[in-house]
Amino acid sequence: MRFIKRLPSFEYHTPGTLPEALDLLIRYGKRAGVLAGGTDLLLAMKRRETVPEHLVNIKGLTSLKGITRDRLGQIAIGALVTLEEIGSSELIKEKLPGLWDAANTMASPQIRSLATIGGNVCSAMPSADAVPPLIASGASVRIAGAKGEREVPLEAFFKGPGESVLRGEEILTRILLPEPGEKTGGCYLKLMRRHAMDLAQIGVAVCLRLDSAGLICREARVALGAVAETPIRASRAEKVLLNKEADPETAKEAGRAASAEANPRSSIRASKEYRKAMIEVLTKRAVLGAFERARGKYGEQPG
Ligand SMILES: Cc1cc2nc3c(=O)[nH]c(=O)nc-3n(C[C@H](O)[C@H](O)[C@H](O)COP(=O)(O)OP(=O)(O)OC[C@H]3O[C@@H](n4cnc5c(N)ncnc54)[C@H](O)[C@@H]3O)c2cc1C
Repeated sequence: MRFIKRLPSFEYHTPGTLPEALDLLIRYGKRAGVLAGGTDLLLAMKRRETVPEHLVNIKGLTSLKGITRDRLGQIAIGALVTLEEIGSSELIKEKLPGLWDAANTMASPQIRSLATIGGNVCSAMPSADAVPPLIASGASVRIAGAKGEREVPLEAFFKGPGESVLRGEEILTRILLPEPGEKTGGCYLKLMRRHAMDLAQIGVAVCLRLDSAGLICREARVALGAVAETPIRASRAEKVLLNKEADPETAKEAGRAASAEANPRSSIRASKEYRKAMIEVLTKRAVLGAFERARGKYGEQPG
């Protein structure tokens, strides 16, 4: 049992622009930490898992806010967009339904109004709910640092629990997603020990595109959370789906493939065997949900 203490003392900075924020991170180096919604960071500080002497609050950086769509249809989600904004966005519901599902299963309304999508990604937790649907949708992240900007595919961002390719003096600014084509649908399903306010025992995200008749699966991406040190793609399940009929038998086969390739560990949340059994069930249901949505039926999450 880790005791929650008072926050340690720190110097607080409120930059008004991205260059100012980057300057502070470079000046204070390892002694600085980035603060967004604080729903992960402040608890970690109270547990003394991290003790930054300088907190750089980025919530005033307007360039990191908002959900936009460019002329090519690419969607950009600012790192400071809150989970509440994602869960109530009509654009996200229509174009990225798996991410919309995830945002609406996370934490509580109070936490969702503070917590940012950038914070969920940067915390790099294997159970982070926003990550599998973003990976399944082909997301990349834009990162700003002293030497300019770089773009990293989200699947290459994570190195281990709590570890990513983000350097201490860098800030994640945006999440970029390609235009989802016609007859594309997505779904995210999360297994929890209770129905709310719990982290995922497993999370399954599926994003697929059907042919124009809505019968054959032409593209498929499946991503799993909380089953390995980092979120992973289920490539065998994707192969099963490709060019197959979009029917319950294909969904069942994809579930079996995802379960066979996943190698989860036993933890306080669930045993390895239970996780593997439930990956099969949830993948099958998420594939069926994505089929339905690709055909244009934007219902609630499938059971
Ligand atoms: C009660 C409770 C329930 C929760 N339930 C869930 C849940 O169901 N599912 C789930 O996935 N998570 C859950 N969380 C975890 C948390 O709310 C999310 O991970 C949240 O999205 C983190 O965002 P934040 O803005 O609060 O990040 P912060 O706490 O501000 O930051 C988290 C980390 O990311 C870094 N960081 C943040 N933004 C940036 C950026 N733009 N660039 C560089 N570094 C950055 C910070 O330095 C810090 O290391 C829960 C937390 C609580 C307290």
